[in-house]
Amino acid sequence: ISDEKKELMDLIEALDVELIHLQFTDIIGIPKNVTIMAHQLNKVLESGITFDGSSIDGFVRVEESDMYLRPDITTFTVFPWTSSPKEARMICDVYNMDGTPFEGCPRYILKQAVKESEALGYTMNVGPECEFFLFHTDSNGVPSLEVHDQASYFDLAPMDMGGNARNDISLTLKQMGFKIEASHHEVAPGQHEIDFEYADALKTADNIMTFKMVVRIIAQRHGLHATFMPKPHIGISGSGMHLNISLSNPNGTNAFYDPKDELQMSSTAYHFLGGLLTHAKAFTALTNPTVNSYKRLVPGYEAPILIAWSLSNRSPLIRVPSGRSESTRLELRSPDPSANPYLALAATLKAGLDGIKNKIEPPAQISNNLYEYSDTEIDELNIERLPSNLYEALKEFSQSATMREAIGDHAFKRYKEAAMYEWNEYSKYVSQWELNRYLRKF
Ligand code: ADP
Ligand code: MG
Ligand code: MG
Ligand code: MG
Ligand code: MG
Repeated sequence: ISDEKKELMDLIEALDVELIHLQFTDIIGIPKNVTIMAHQLNKVLESGITFDGSSIDGFVRVEESDMYLRPDITTFTVFPWTSSPKEARMICDVYNMDGTPFEGCPRYILKQAVKESEALGYTMNVGPECEFFLFHTDSNGVPSLEVHDQASYFDLAPMDMGGNARNDISLTLKQMGFKIEASHHEVAPGQHEIDFEYADALKTADNIMTFKMVVRIIAQRHGLHATFMPKPHIGISGSGMHLNISLSNPNGTNAFYDPKDELQMSSTAYHFLGGLLTHAKAFTALTNPTVNSYKRLVPGYEAPILIAWSLSNRSPLIRVPSGRSESTRLELRSPDPSANPYLALAATLKAGLDGIKNKIEPPAQISNNLYEYSDTEIDELNIERLPSNLYEALKEFSQSATMREAIGDHAFKRYKEAAMYEWNEYSKYVSQWELNRYLRKF
């Protein structure tokens, strides 16, 4: 038994941790969990724990169902909201029974993309801005569609009634090792944002999974339902998950920064930007995976629809925030928090690296508000649009060799199947909108 493991066992003993949740993520981005008693840990660290992979979305067929989990002990964290005996968790990697890593494991997929990036001399850093809504629940704890306040951007108490829950979430995350940078009420009633410090891609994807879990748990303890559904209300801003992306060099300096350039951006930054723009249509199925995601990508709510970039404007797909030197970064504005963060980061990293490898030059930046452009003007400027629904996104995704490579054959196939199933279910559904519109008219 290694020193690391010995230390972990001692810690668990000292903190009175009795239950350990072993977590991983399915292909859709849903967290999964199996709980062991602390005394089982030694055994699990030695040989992993088996589970039925055929029961997990997007994993394997019944014929090959046995798989096992190996906890990554660096992800050990105690749940601060549990009292003695305490509960803790570790994030796991998924393995085949023959001991090889499972190629459809989202965490493994991201690790592969990270490896490729490291081989080129770059570490991807990502700072996500996860937005969410807080809704009231009824007396049975069932979420309602009633938001719990009427506040707006940067409002404070007593207008901002989510303040208590939000602060509790921030403090809990801090105890779990997050560096919270800022939290605030968002534009829409009942909508919030909590920003935590950027980290390398794998750490950030793990953090996003942890973040979503903690937000939901703490909200529930305040009698509220937190949702990361992208667009719960018609006519009101949806929830995004902007990804602030930069690359660092082996010595830790920012590879996107070049003081000699007019915009102080390096050619690496321009090429990465070019790659993101080139593959944007193809990765949208991963960054915006639900039918509902596309109801957020409409004009007028600071969500992008056009594949362009800008230094200041918040309407195009990518913004380059004003910070330079170590803060030089690209803000990708299309992703929403229903995305599987491992796949979304693998896909965007791969897109950017493709730009670097092929020296893809981005078009000139657009400084005007794109929402004010007419369709003809957009066509004249040669600006392309993001897919406007899940079906279009899946068509682009399916045809992309870069996306296939980014997430591997297994996940590529399974993801397409799962998303197409989702689209087909939706297509058959007759909505209230259609009834309101057509029942009397025809
Ligand atoms: P916005 O101005 O879009 O509201 P925020 O301040 O809410 O932006 O979030 C900025 C995010 O960018 C934070 O998560 C922060 O840690 C992250 N960030 C800062 N510098 C970098 C960098 N060099 N690389 C990646 N992310 C960064
Ligand atoms: Mg069993
Ligand atoms: Mg923000
Ligand atoms: Mg925001
Ligand atoms: Mg932002």
